[in-house]
Amino acid sequence: MSADRRVAVGIEIGGSKTTVALVDSSGHVHQRSHAKTLRGRPAAATLEPYLRAVDAMLAYARSSDWQVSGIGISIPGTLDYTRRRPFLIPLLPSLSNFPLCDFLENRYELPTHLQVDVDAALLGEHRFGAGRGFKRLLYLAVEAVVGASLVINGQVEHPTQQYIGHICHLNVSSSGPRCSCGKQGCINTMVSMDAIQKRVQRALRRGEEGSLVQRLLGREYFSPQLLAEEALRGDTLALQVYGEISRCVSAAIAKYIDLFEPNVLILGGILGAQYCASDLLLSRVRGSLIVRSSSRVCSMVELVPAVLGSDAELAGAVLPLL
Ligand SMILES: [Zn+2]
Repeated sequence: MSADRRVAVGIEIGGSKTTVALVDSSGHVHQRSHAKTLRGRPAAATLEPYLRAVDAMLAYARSSDWQVSGIGISIPGTLDYTRRRPFLIPLLPSLSNFPLCDFLENRYELPTHLQVDVDAALLGEHRFGAGRGFKRLLYLAVEAVVGASLVINGQVEHPTQQYIGHICHLNVSSSGPRCSCGKQGCINTMVSMDAIQKRVQRALRRGEEGSLVQRLLGREYFSPQLLAEEALRGDTLALQVYGEISRCVSAAIAKYIDLFEPNVLILGGILGAQYCASDLLLSRVRGSLIVRSSSRVCSMVELVPAVLGSDAELAGAVLPLL
């Protein structure tokens, strides 16, 4: 079998759905399907939709002459690297400590590799996207939780738990809603998707007006895309939310520049290029950063949006297998 028919199965576990895909060594996704993420179920029931999707993907690969070299999984949590299993997945507690690699290797007889989602995303962006050619890369992503990853010379580094991985309690403000840890100003209570949605809901209850409010009252679902569209249209509330995200993200960035001296800082999740207003948000982050830091610090680092979206996680998750 020729090398250009080699692919791996990438699995990106997400909050409401999980993506299963065939990915090659150029980061190209050849086939993709989705499986439901079922919350609050035992491990076997949680895994069942994923396994069906992997079964179908492997059958497709066989019928299309792809040679599958392994399974790479992007995990929304922390890992026990020694025992090759998730350590803590807040979203899916029944998979915490579940021997996932052993289970999948027994079932499929394929090498299996786990990566923390933000690490997979940064590896994907480093190899195929916004981080190509850089040596010290920092990734900061705002999604359901806020996450950070550090790659130096192509290797994921885990210097301190507090700053890398899911950085829910990183302090970025002296005020704000009280966090489950008891403190105020934790980044997850300020800019995670949940925090942004709560802020918009408070504005709705206060009776604020504007086109974002109108669309939500018209039963449109709140999403990063909706927020981005309204920010671009100049909606006051959407721009206020962007202002707060920018202030908090720039506070985090200033810390990361001091700590790790990256050459490039890649912003992902709702800060990434797949959302139409990422340029608007990025220019605000740059503006807040200049107010906060010296121009020398700001000139040290390139600030760019992630360009691959969730494909970065798939590509990064399968990299060690190809
Ligand atoms: Zn906290």
